[in-house]
Amino acid sequence: KDFRNNVKPNWCPGCGDFSVQSAIQRAAANVGLTPEDLALVSGIGCSGRISGYINSYGFHGTHGRALPIAQGVKMANRDLTVVAAGGDGDGFAIGIGHTIHAMRRNMDITYIVMDNQVYGLTKGQTSPRSDDGFVTSSTPDGSIEQALPPMETALMSGATFVAQSFSTEIKELTATIEAGIQHKGFSIINVFSPCVTYNKVNTYDWFKENLTKLSDIEGYDNTNRTQAMTTLMEHNSLVTGIIYQEDRPAYEDMVKGYDEKPLAHQDLALDPDYFESLVGEFM
Ligand code: SF4
Ligand code: MG
Repeated sequence: KDFRNNVKPNWCPGCGDFSVQSAIQRAAANVGLTPEDLALVSGIGCSGRISGYINSYGFHGTHGRALPIAQGVKMANRDLTVVAAGGDGDGFAIGIGHTIHAMRRNMDITYIVMDNQVYGLTKGQTSPRSDDGFVTSSTPDGSIEQALPPMETALMSGATFVAQSFSTEIKELTATIEAGIQHKGFSIINVFSPCVTYNKVNTYDWFKENLTKLSDIEGYDNTNRTQAMTTLMEHNSLVTGIIYQEDRPAYEDMVKGYDEKPLAHQDLALDPDYFESLVGEFM
C-alpha cells in the first residue's frame, strides 16, 4: 500500500506544495508507516487541501486550528503518527498562538508549514511572512510591517526540533520530514514553497540565489541553541537543514495514565457498577 490516492490536486501548475505532498508520501513510506498509521491534519489555505491528496487518515480543519486538532488526535490515540500541515497565513497569523503553545508543550507531532509568504487561496494578500515592502492587493504601496521569523520564534518557544527546507530540494525535504517524524516530541519544519501565481518576488530562482545549506556552514552544531539563533540572524533566516534538535520528554509521556488508556483504547462496553456510580445519585 502506498500513500497515493486518486484525487488530483487543484494547485496551480508549478506550486511548491506539490513537492511537499510528494515528500510527505515518501518520508512516511521510508520510515515504515502504512496509511493506517498516519493522521494528516491540515488547516485552511491552498496548502490545507493537502490532507485530501494523501492516502492516510485525513482531517481538513479550520483556519489556524490544525494544531489543536492534531494534538487532540494524538491524545486520543498515541498509536497514530500525527502530522499537521498548513500555510504561513494559517500557522503564523490566526494560528500563531496555537503554534507557540504547541511548541512549548512538545507533544509528539510533526508540523509542516508551506511558507509562500502570501495568502494564495484568497488571491494574494500580505501574510505575516511577507517581507517589508511586498506589494499585494492589500498593500498596494508595499507592506509596512516586518515579516515574522518562524524559526527564531520556534527556538524561543521551546520547540525541540526546528528545521527549514525548500520544496524543490525534494531529497533534503524528504529526509528532513523523516527526521521530524522520528523525533520524539514536537517538530516544526518550515518549507519555502513558492506561490507561482501571487508571489513574484520570492520565486524559485530567488531562493536558489539566497538560501544557504547548514551543511555548508563549517562547524555548525544543531544541538547548540545559541549558535542556531546567531546563524539565523546572520543569514536573514534563509538557511535550510535541521537548525536545532533537543531531547526532552514528550508531553504525552508525562501525562499520568496516558500509557494505559488513551480514549481510542477505552472499552466501549460500560461497566454497570461504574454507570451506577456515575448516574446513581440522579436516579
Ligand atoms: Fe499554489 Fe499560489 Fe496557486 Fe495557491 S495560488 S495553488 S499557493 S501557486
Ligand atoms: Mg501562504
